[in-house]
Amino acid sequence: MRSIFLFNTLTRSIDQVIPNEPGVVKVYNCGPTIYNFAHIGNLRTFLFQDLLRRTLLACGYDVVFCMNLTDVEDKIIRDSQADLPQSADNETRLGAMRALTDKYEKHFLEDMTALGIQMPTHMPRATDYIPQMIRLVEGLESKGLAYERDGSVYFRVSELPDYGSLAHLDREGMKQGSSVDSDEYDRDSLNDFVLWKGYKPGEPWWESKWGNGRPGWHIECSAMSLDLFGEYLDIHTGGIDLVFPHHENEIAQSEGLLGHKWVNHWVHGEFLLVEGEKMSKSLGNFYTLRDLREKGIDPIVFRYAIQSNHYRKAYNFTFDGLSAAEASLKRIRGFRRRMEDQSAPGGGGEFKESIDPYIRVEKARQEFWDALCDDLNTPEALAALFTLITDINAQDDRILLLPDERSAILDFLDETDSIFAAWPHESRSLDQEVKELITARKIAKANKEWAEADKIREKIKDLGIVLEDRKDGSVSWHKI
Ligand code: AMP
Ligand code: ZN
Repeated sequence: MRSIFLFNTLTRSIDQVIPNEPGVVKVYNCGPTIYNFAHIGNLRTFLFQDLLRRTLLACGYDVVFCMNLTDVEDKIIRDSQADLPQSADNETRLGAMRALTDKYEKHFLEDMTALGIQMPTHMPRATDYIPQMIRLVEGLESKGLAYERDGSVYFRVSELPDYGSLAHLDREGMKQGSSVDSDEYDRDSLNDFVLWKGYKPGEPWWESKWGNGRPGWHIECSAMSLDLFGEYLDIHTGGIDLVFPHHENEIAQSEGLLGHKWVNHWVHGEFLLVEGEKMSKSLGNFYTLRDLREKGIDPIVFRYAIQSNHYRKAYNFTFDGLSAAEASLKRIRGFRRRMEDQSAPGGGGEFKESIDPYIRVEKARQEFWDALCDDLNTPEALAALFTLITDINAQDDRILLLPDERSAILDFLDETDSIFAAWPHESRSLDQEVKELITARKIAKANKEWAEADKIREKIKDLGIVLEDRKDGSVSWHKI
């Protein structure tokens, strides 16, 4: 098992990951709000979470990985209720919300598959945890940390001396704020934030001791995480914008209830910008993965572009950047093909003195894992791989590699691909394509788009694959 070090937003230093239960790392990741297609900024954060998980796994840890789906909050309610009459009953309102979130959950899963993001161990939906949320708010109330006002319940921030330690708030210098109803707000004053929102006409609701209402956004993640992981969590992640107030408030809620430290490591991914600017629909620089695919961009090229940048550096998305990523990928894949093909001619590099491929691979391997274990330093890890490629290409020009030497190099390429998921062995890349098509077909069938489902089946057949629909709803496949 390798030691892994990660920047911790709580301590502002690079700390070793020391799981509470030796060998098992419990990770909670704030997931998407499923009311629309994820944009490429969101996807950057999910790719950083995937990088973290794959690195932990490759370093020998068991990983319990949770990514929640936010399926009730202000924007979801706004969009799902817009076409309903004022007279609509609660069942209709909940149903409309579910229909919208079901639709975008499916699209989100498609994006994850296309990007090679591994499915989490747990993917809880907030609306399945309403009783846990209510119990958590009740617990805070009984500890004097929460109070009710007009059917809503707020967290009493002044009762928690540590409030603000994640975001490093200067509590002394801040003015006392009021009770805020919105989930997002600035850090200019100390505000009592909302835990439970009292019923408003036109909104879906659940029953509670404070009357009908619905959860605030922050309580959702605390309740799901405590329910799934218990009192201690090793790592909690999200995009950098979530540090305040979302994660600060999660700490207040969970630690307020537990009475002790909850999360060891807070890890945040930096933002994606588009051509140097914040992405926004009004600027016309807002992209989803679909938009990129329509422009002919392979999702794995986007994956590689993101993963080749350090997760704690802002990533400036440009189409030129994607072309550069594609060229780098071609280099790695071309190298892999030559290593797989015993009869292929050597590379075109300048001849250097004879080298020992085993020693070179070992050096690259050491550098690769040292870099990843040091705060997921992917640029340095890739540099180690490219140095190896350059060295072997030069050597291979004049001296044929032995089959065992090629196989040692291929083993290392497999190892590196367990992180980057971008240069698989050919048959594995077929696997990935078939899996994506099977998911797309499942979705088409669920939506009763039979013609589309048949079209996808034909496409799969063109790849030389036969599908078999099993009785339990699963699908198996084999080559013709
Ligand atoms: P949401 O779907 O809005 O709940 O956001 C899902 C995740 O995307 C959160 O972890 C956000 O921090 C993250 N996120 C939002 N915008 C960006 C961006 N431009 N770049 C990187 N991550 C982002
Ligand atoms: Zn969250």
